[in-house]
Amino acid sequence: MVARVIPVEQFDLVIFGATGDLARRKILPGLYRRWKEGQIPEGSKIIGAARSEVARDDFREMVRAALQEFLDRKELVDDTIASFLDMLDYVTIDAKGDAGWDVLSNMMRADIVRAFYLSVAPALFGDIAKRLHTRGIADRNSRIVVEKPFGKDLATARALNAALAEYFHEDQIYRIDHYLGKETVQNLMAVRFANILFEPLWNSQFVDHVQITVAETVGVDGRGEYYDTSGAMRDMVQNHLMQLLCLIAMEPPHCFEPDAMRDEKLKVIRALDPMGPGEYVRGQYRGRGREDYLIDSGNPDSRTESFIAMKLHISNWRWKGTPFYLRTGKRLKSRVSEIAVTFKEPPHSIFGESNQWRENVLVIRLQPDEGMDLRVMIKEPGPGGMRLKDVALDMSFAEALGNDLDIPDAYERLIMDVIRGNQTLFMRGDEVEAAWAWVDPVIEGWEQRDDRPEAYEPGSTGPEGALMLMHKDGRRWREIR
Ligand code: NAP
Repeated sequence: MVARVIPVEQFDLVIFGATGDLARRKILPGLYRRWKEGQIPEGSKIIGAARSEVARDDFREMVRAALQEFLDRKELVDDTIASFLDMLDYVTIDAKGDAGWDVLSNMMRADIVRAFYLSVAPALFGDIAKRLHTRGIADRNSRIVVEKPFGKDLATARALNAALAEYFHEDQIYRIDHYLGKETVQNLMAVRFANILFEPLWNSQFVDHVQITVAETVGVDGRGEYYDTSGAMRDMVQNHLMQLLCLIAMEPPHCFEPDAMRDEKLKVIRALDPMGPGEYVRGQYRGRGREDYLIDSGNPDSRTESFIAMKLHISNWRWKGTPFYLRTGKRLKSRVSEIAVTFKEPPHSIFGESNQWRENVLVIRLQPDEGMDLRVMIKEPGPGGMRLKDVALDMSFAEALGNDLDIPDAYERLIMDVIRGNQTLFMRGDEVEAAWAWVDPVIEGWEQRDDRPEAYEPGSTGPEGALMLMHKDGRRWREIR
């Protein structure tokens, strides 16, 4: 099955931090895949920039090695790789220095889409934005893409927004949250807003509760120093989980346009009640060697959470009374990201007490196997009388749409959206600030109370306290399989 794609114009894309991990693992392989699918027009240019002195040919070889390392063998086609590498150039630039910018300026062509991907530490965003502007490399039509973390609290996020706003308009700024680029996340919007089936039930009258789980099996993965200053709340909740929550809870926008969508997401964040003690559980994995957070993070006195479970309330007409349970953590049993919407019991059962009723649940799986299923009650087949059982109406995208369907990775899709000038799947500055405005007092609260995270075993489903958070409400977490 060949997916229809909206073509893009020829472009010049500059990747700052082109020698770094993200560029090698996601951005450049993603661009190669789009090139291979014929989605990048001939004549486009991709220019790597970083401090390291690298000759153009060496950069191309570095990219070839990255493609070999991070793509499936079946995706590697010699001629396609050669023509992709031909598009690449490199310029040595220290974001804080003055050298190299003229070289970059001369590489860029007039009257063509210009995009600048800042795959570097946020501390460099302001320096790069300023030089792109003052050297005349970026103009009113240029786009600038920035990576997370977008601040570590409201004050730093505001400062980053202000630093970018000095040289770029909001409609030029693309703040990436790669969760929004996932196929299923967009499908969630299709399911909600292109079907009549769910929307009438999508409120506290019919939804008992919502669970959002993002479980990882890895530890801090060599990023201990950074992670220990961040923790699960800043690293995962403020951005990814909050974005998923918004898409589930938002009102239908009047159209699928960037600001219409983002206005509705913003209203959800603003309607979140403050979270008090007793509504969250923080955890730390404690095992042997690197499976002990204190060793893995390199901080023996750390109180940073590698896990958090929380119960949130949205104070608006649609959701008052329906709790949203969120959890995320590292070194858990398996790698799972999913959203589960659990519906309420039918008002009256006509099938008698011997038939155990199970909830209708709509599960939206983001990973590992993107898809959705809806658990419904049916009659158990056979002559044994009216016995009920719950089954899944399952839609795995790969199965339903054919295994050869080309589902782009989230980064691929988002980069092509930048070139198209479509900001729908990117966070607006006020959304990011509103999310921090909610997170900041929660973190301040646990710092004041000197909260210590609860220990959990590596490879488990998190601390006991997290189970209790739901048990005391008479509910349970979905299994992390
Ligand atoms: P990284 O591996 O440390 O790479 C950083 C890049 O920035 C390198 O290319 C480095 O090259 C360049 N750089 C550093 N200082 C510079 C300067 N003064 N001027 C110009 N270039 C400079 O980091 P990364 O993992 O790729 O992450 C990049 C950004 O993406 C970070 O903000 C990170 O938080 C974010 N991010 C990363 C991931 C991921 O999976 N890796 C995921 C989400 C977000 P030189 O040393 O040669 O200059």
